Amino acid sequence: MGNNIVQGTAGKIEINARRLMERLETLAQFGQNNHGGMDRPLGSIADEASRQWLQSCWQNELGLEVTLDAMANMWGSQKDINIEAFKHKKPIVMGSHSDTVPDGGKYDGALGVLMATEVVQTLLENKAALQHPLQLINFTGEEPNDYGVSTLGSKVLCGRWGQKEIDSFSHSVTGEPLTKALARLGGAPENVESARLPEGFAAAFLECHIEQGRHLYDSHQAVAAVSAITGIYRETIVVKGEANHAGTTLYKHRRDALAAAAEVILAVEDLLKKPQLEGVAVTVGHVEVSPNASNIIPGEVRLSLDLRTADPQKRQEALLILGSSIAYIAKRRGVEIKRNLQLNQSEIPMDAEVIAAMCEAAAGRSNPARQLVSMAGHDAANMARLVPAGMLFVQSTGGYSHCPKEHTRKEEITIAAQVLLDTVLLLDRRLS
Ligand SMILES: [Zn+2]
Repeated sequence: MGNNIVQGTAGKIEINARRLMERLETLAQFGQNNHGGMDRPLGSIADEASRQWLQSCWQNELGLEVTLDAMANMWGSQKDINIEAFKHKKPIVMGSHSDTVPDGGKYDGALGVLMATEVVQTLLENKAALQHPLQLINFTGEEPNDYGVSTLGSKVLCGRWGQKEIDSFSHSVTGEPLTKALARLGGAPENVESARLPEGFAAAFLECHIEQGRHLYDSHQAVAAVSAITGIYRETIVVKGEANHAGTTLYKHRRDALAAAAEVILAVEDLLKKPQLEGVAVTVGHVEVSPNASNIIPGEVRLSLDLRTADPQKRQEALLILGSSIAYIAKRRGVEIKRNLQLNQSEIPMDAEVIAAMCEAAAGRSNPARQLVSMAGHDAANMARLVPAGMLFVQSTGGYSHCPKEHTRKEEITIAAQVLLDTVLLLDRRLS
């Protein structure tokens, strides 16, 4: 394949946008509720049915060989993967997930799976003479669900979780063990370790995903390469005051844990206003009040803290500022505030060579070579532990996601698919 395929417009390979949009609509039939939202959580009937549809699409329309690993991750591989042309070349893997959050949107995950599908089909139809075989993946259970897991399939692929973890989860409502759901989806849950992949199993992993924020929408841009996936830091903050009678306790004798916790929440929100902490997202999303009765002054309050940034120095600075605010609140209000670390997951940079190829491919399609940090977690963060990984963000209309309003226009989808295809062509020539 010559350079002219990705340089000069005349030689470019064009994806079939109509086919891609039709498949998005077809996949959206599975689990669509009566107000347009998607209910396709891990292990649901809609999850099973949509996976069967995808499997037959890959088999019958792309001619791929489809296999399920022990975690029921769905792989689509070229049948001639062992021919001489591909000898010693590892695959370029592309994909995302087809499950959704409750009442979610049509594009989160689904777009990444179907765009990868379209890119592979277009390259096969055009008989592009690639050095690397292409492989598709649809990850199992990416979204948080009632089994209490997320990025499930990729966590096992990269070895973060093994048999012990998988055996320990069950559905919070039905009580069904996670292993049973995996078996229903075609996995082999008695042998999950067999799904684990060695470092360097592929030449690269690429995931296209909706941005789920509004940076691209506000700047009227279609795509961006993801520079890093955010680090996530979580702690539980416990405010201990003194429970007492709501009617008889004077102000000067009160040690109200909830009033103090309210000040803590505002101190957390204040971090978002500090210019030096730009790019830090911080949220208190869960509150438990004890005893939580209308005639008792609250004695204890538990708060969740979720702090995200791709910059470890900013994380440190945010925690320092918060620490001194909390110390001040505790002292002034005569309460005790304890902080318990729950999670300190470091940021995951995406591969520099993949980012460069995405930026170049975007520029080649007259789009700015923009980079963004992903403030949400993705399967690509797990894949980055194994192989050079990259993500292509595509504009979310209005920045909506995880809701029925989630939308991406055909125009941006088409550009993103072209950029993804051109990225594959660039990487195919550059990667060993
Ligand atoms: Zn997603």
